[in-house]
Amino acid sequence: EEINPNDTVKISILGRGSSGVVYKVQHKKNNKLYALKVIQDKHEPEVCKRILTEMSIHRRAHNPYVVQCFGAFEKGGEISLVLEYMDGGSLQDVIKAKKTISERYLADIAMKALKGLDYLHRNKIVHRDIKPSNILLGRNQEVKIADFGVSTILANSLAACNTFVGTCAYMSPERFDPDQNDGRYNGYAADIWSLGMSLLECTMGHFPLVAPGETFDWATVMFAICYNSLPSPPEDSSPEFKDFVAQCLQKDPSLRPRASTLLSHPFVTKFQAVPSSIKEGSRSYSRSGGQVWRNFNNALNSIFS
Ligand code: ATP
Ligand code: MG
Repeated sequence: EEINPNDTVKISILGRGSSGVVYKVQHKKNNKLYALKVIQDKHEPEVCKRILTEMSIHRRAHNPYVVQCFGAFEKGGEISLVLEYMDGGSLQDVIKAKKTISERYLADIAMKALKGLDYLHRNKIVHRDIKPSNILLGRNQEVKIADFGVSTILANSLAACNTFVGTCAYMSPERFDPDQNDGRYNGYAADIWSLGMSLLECTMGHFPLVAPGETFDWATVMFAICYNSLPSPPEDSSPEFKDFVAQCLQKDPSLRPRASTLLSHPFVTKFQAVPSSIKEGSRSYSRSGGQVWRNFNNALNSIFS
């Protein structure tokens, strides 16, 4: 059922991105909370049309690991999206609060993000903008992928440097290659790269290609993505995590595993050792998995309260 922004009341600001503001809103009739993303500025009709088309795809995506879209509206070049509200914020918020995420939590986040990606990829949807701010958390152990399509459309249409940087930092090397960047490149493998970079960031506590305190220099970052060997996870990381990241961050896209393959990677499976515990779509989690999440939720609560 479609939700119209006019039927909601703004409660607070959840965050700002390069394209606009995200509000926490409440529906006047059903009292449910939603996130309202308002993409500001007047956009050309062509851009609006592309976004609305993208959103009609988004609205058909129904999966526990993908943020639901309940409505997309355009008025005078300004676009509003009514989205599922995620009360735990984004992975970016966790990193910003200077919390690195330990492997036990990260393995669960990785599993759920991979399930979301696998769903999108099976439906022939390439996300194109996987990064920590687009992986959203709920306090009830939810992990969902947000924002497919939109940011890339805006980045391409505006080509404004600031807009571009946020999106490009997580881009895979082949996307910078003009010979392959005409839409024929393997977008699925590009999403895997971006996920690997995002998870690596969670253990390092900062964007992996810029040392803390160093200023973001776009040319240096792009050079590192395309030609340098990438930073390894922290010394004390498990061999499983190191291998997981190494597999995602292979320069040759054809060598990167698919989301469905990575779901059975030892890094993802080793923390789910309790047999037949997590049932899809049910709320019965394993005791150990539940405890891991309770600890993580406590950590989250201390960040957001
Ligand atoms: P960029 O503009 O580079 O894509 P971004 O992803 O941070 O960056 P937005 O998608 O506009 O930009 O989101 C801004 C912030 O709002 C996010 O970082 C997140 O904290 C919050 N947010 C976005 N969507 C939701 C949602 N559905 N539920 C709760 N919070 C959200
Ligand atoms: Mg976003």
